Amino acid sequence: MTSRPNKATESNEMQLLRSRLLEAEETLEAIRHGAVDALVVKQRDTQQIFTLKSADHTYRVLIESMSQAAITIANNGTILYSNSQFSRMLGKQLELIIGARFQTLFDPKDQPKLQNLIEQNEIQKDLNSQGHHELELDLPGPDITSVIISVTQLPKVEANAYMGVIITDITERKRAEKAKDEFISLASHQLRTPATGVKQYLGMLIEGYAGDLDEKQLAFVKTAYDSNEKQIDIISSILKTAQIDSGAYKVIKTPQSLLALIDTVLTDFKPVFMMRGQQLKIEVSPELEVDVDGDELCVALSNLIENASKYSPDGTVITIKTTQSSQATTIRVADKGVGIDEADQVKIFEKFTRVDNAMSDTVNGSGLGLYWVKRIVTMHGGSITVDSVLNKGTTFIVKLPR
Ligand code: ADP
Repeated sequence: MTSRPNKATESNEMQLLRSRLLEAEETLEAIRHGAVDALVVKQRDTQQIFTLKSADHTYRVLIESMSQAAITIANNGTILYSNSQFSRMLGKQLELIIGARFQTLFDPKDQPKLQNLIEQNEIQKDLNSQGHHELELDLPGPDITSVIISVTQLPKVEANAYMGVIITDITERKRAEKAKDEFISLASHQLRTPATGVKQYLGMLIEGYAGDLDEKQLAFVKTAYDSNEKQIDIISSILKTAQIDSGAYKVIKTPQSLLALIDTVLTDFKPVFMMRGQQLKIEVSPELEVDVDGDELCVALSNLIENASKYSPDGTVITIKTTQSSQATTIRVADKGVGIDEADQVKIFEKFTRVDNAMSDTVNGSGLGLYWVKRIVTMHGGSITVDSVLNKGTTFIVKLPR
């Protein structure tokens, strides 16, 4: 038989529990408002003391020892806190930084972009989500310092919105990338010259300049000629990629007929289409003009058209269609080929990315074509997207601003 607790013991226990709960709630509230300096955490045999001062101190030391600049700003850009790394990056005293408007510390040409970056976070503040936006630019000053500025919306404090800004110096990384691009560019230049020489001499052998070759000799030389041509193609692709990456490619825009550009590109492809029984449908108005770098747009279009043919079975239809609004010219290159799996669609614009599909075993490629197309289109201020269904077909949509 169990003994029942008497009423007095029960109410004492309840009171004790209630007062502990109240104490815990008060402690939490005091921590939240910064009124508590230390926390005593009771463990089985010991007690450990955590002071908030020491936590704050270690946090500040961490922020100060970071190689990045760490700043907090109010929603209008006023700097509330900055570590000294930011002062070193700008070559400006910390006293002149704290309290200043963040945007005004940068080159006037970059200030609208920074304003925009802050406002993007401002919009997210209203949605109460944690925003995160980035911008790459050069800091003002005698030395070129390239940085990435990353702005994150912080949780609201008493109805006020604050943002955390982290600035990372990427000058060294950019210098290393430039050196790598220059090396690749130089190496591929040096490789292309002798490879082109080999092509000329093999061509002369095939043409019979060194006397007649028997059937077996001719077959060997032709195989060598084909392999050498592939080698030159690869070297040229790498060279072009290095040039695009190094920023050596600049688009020089002139107004011109889009249909004329498409016709130029198609001259090279018509024999391929004929051979494969592929039909070409062109829905482009002859009056349609675009302000583009003709040579570069031809490179982009020929990659899209070549892919449409390469990744489609014989006898299918390839359509090139353009439309124009007051703001943009849209070019659609559509095929009824193997299609691209949804998971792969995000990868295909990356450098050296080839995606396996029903035809990739029989189709040659370097995985660079779409990377160039995207770079060329973005250099024009435009965009490229893909719409594709596996085994049904693919449409690439290029939008160029007017
Ligand atoms: P490459 O054709 O040299 O492999 P690209 O950069 O031009 O390189 O294309 C990347 C990948 O995207 C290709 O490997 C292919 O899998 C896919 N792809 C591109 N265009 C098409 C298309 N029209 N239809 C189906 N797949 C395509």
